[in-house]
Amino acid sequence: MDCIFCQIVAGKVPSEIVHQDEEIIAFRDINPQAPTHLLIIPKRHIPSLIQLAEAELPVLGRMVNVANQLARGESIAESGYRLVVNCGEEGGQVVPHLHLHLLGGRRLSDAMG
Ligand code: 5GP
Ligand code: ZN
Repeated sequence: MDCIFCQIVAGKVPSEIVHQDEEIIAFRDINPQAPTHLLIIPKRHIPSLIQLAEAELPVLGRMVNVANQLARGESIAESGYRLVVNCGEEGGQVVPHLHLHLLGGRRLSDAMG
C-alpha cells in the first residue's frame, strides 16, 4: 500500500481530517493554495477520474455533497469556492487516488489553466 491517500485513510499518515463517513474522508491539503484548501476523497482506492466506473459514479455525487457541506462549515458557501479534479499527468494530477480539491477564502484566479 504505497498510496499516500490510502495511508491517510488507514490513519498511518497523519492529516487534519475535517470529515469522515463510511465512504469518504476529507482533510486539509498539506500545501494549501488558498485560505481554505481541502481534499475530499473516497476511502476506496480509485486511481483517477478516468478510472471511475459507471457503477462508482454515485460516490462522486456524495463527494460533491460533502464538499458543499464543508464549504458551509468554512463559511465560504456565500462568498464562493471552486471544486477541482485533476486527471492524469497533463491535468496536473500528482497523487494517483481520486480527490476533489475544495478551494476558497480568497478571489481565485480567472485562469482555468
Ligand atoms: P493533485 O495535484 O494530485 O491534484 O493534488 C494532490 C494534492 O495533495 C496536492 O495539493 C498536495 O499538496 C496534496 N498532498 C500530497 N501529499 C499530501 C499529504 O501527505 N498530506 C496532505 N494533507 N496533502 C497532501
Ligand atoms: Zn489510494
